[in-house]
Amino acid sequence: MKAAVVRAFGEPLVIEERPDPEPGPGQVRVRVEASGLCHTDIHAAHGDWPVKPTPPFVPGHEGVGLVEKLGEGVTHLSAGQRVAVPWLGRACGRCEHCLSGWETLCEQQVNTGFGCDGGYAEKMLAWADFAQPVPEGVTAFEAAPLACAGVTSYKALKVADVKPAQLVAISGVGGLGHLALQYAKIAGATVAAIDVTDDKLQLATELGADIVIDARKQDAGKELKEHGGAHAAIALAVNPAAFEAVNSGLRRGGKLVMVALPAHGTIQVPIFDTVLNGTSVIGSIVGTRQDLAEVFQLHAAGRTKVIYETRPLASVNESIDAVLRGEIKARVVFDLGAGR
Ligand code: NAD
Ligand code: ZN
Ligand code: ZN
Repeated sequence: MKAAVVRAFGEPLVIEERPDPEPGPGQVRVRVEASGLCHTDIHAAHGDWPVKPTPPFVPGHEGVGLVEKLGEGVTHLSAGQRVAVPWLGRACGRCEHCLSGWETLCEQQVNTGFGCDGGYAEKMLAWADFAQPVPEGVTAFEAAPLACAGVTSYKALKVADVKPAQLVAISGVGGLGHLALQYAKIAGATVAAIDVTDDKLQLATELGADIVIDARKQDAGKELKEHGGAHAAIALAVNPAAFEAVNSGLRRGGKLVMVALPAHGTIQVPIFDTVLNGTSVIGSIVGTRQDLAEVFQLHAAGRTKVIYETRPLASVNESIDAVLRGEIKARVVFDLGAGR
């Protein structure tokens, strides 16, 4: 089988021919149909963060495909079933976080495409308990972006505790942002979408943004304040200055939810304003299996739209460059050819 491999940080990925991986106890082998390119894969391939994967590794945590082989002890999945293999490859199931509905904070977790090989491959392994069944009515190409971009932005809105009639700022209308915008609308909020490319601003309008802010020409904080200030700002743009801009646009009691993970990212949080205005800054990391089930359910019910373009895995390096140049409308989904 073919896989796109990071051999060294910052170097182009290499397409390699590898033997089919054998599922161990509790695992399944998945024949990948579609695999999304999340900006996190780029950070992983570049070694951007304090915690780094160990090359060689296969990135990708938006892999969707058909179960092909069951490892020992797997009884709840069957061959031919469509599953998504998200970032949360597995968690311990026993710790305080796992037991309190926060498996995404488990310290024993293994992350797909980071701590084990991921979805940039024709075949991949998944821990069966964390492989999410994809419901009827959701295609593999739609399920792929939903498996990270969808669940992460859905969870960020839960963390923000968005209520109808609130103003929510979506900073960055890329893979995550184009879905965050839709979940904010579903929650009943008024949405201010912020980006720096004409295409993304256009997409935001098409997806129903009430206010569109061009951060190249406008001060996002000031614009938000002119609308009374945001009750919540979801920071999805890979740029610390964009976090600071929306933080300054919160209304009293507002929340900045940090989601994007720029390399060496730090921001200035003014103590005086934070105290006087009672604002908070909180991080949000992907979502649980239940969150992903809800994301799929919403999509199956026709309530969200996934914007993506398909490309062959062989285009992986050009595709990464295109994402970095901001040329992709929302998500690249690699077509791995399974199921045809
Ligand atoms: P993306 O590249 O598809 O989207 C980023 C968007 O931000 C683009 O539309 C870009 O035009 C826009 N942008 C750039 N500079 C901006 C600025 N100054 N102001 C406003 N918009 C700006 O990336 P993505 O796949 O959506 O991922 C976004 C970030 O979220 C990445 O850092 C990724 O690693 C991170 N991420 C975090 C989690 C999590 O669990 N916390 C999960 C997935 C991704
Ligand atoms: Zn991701
Ligand atoms: Zn745990």
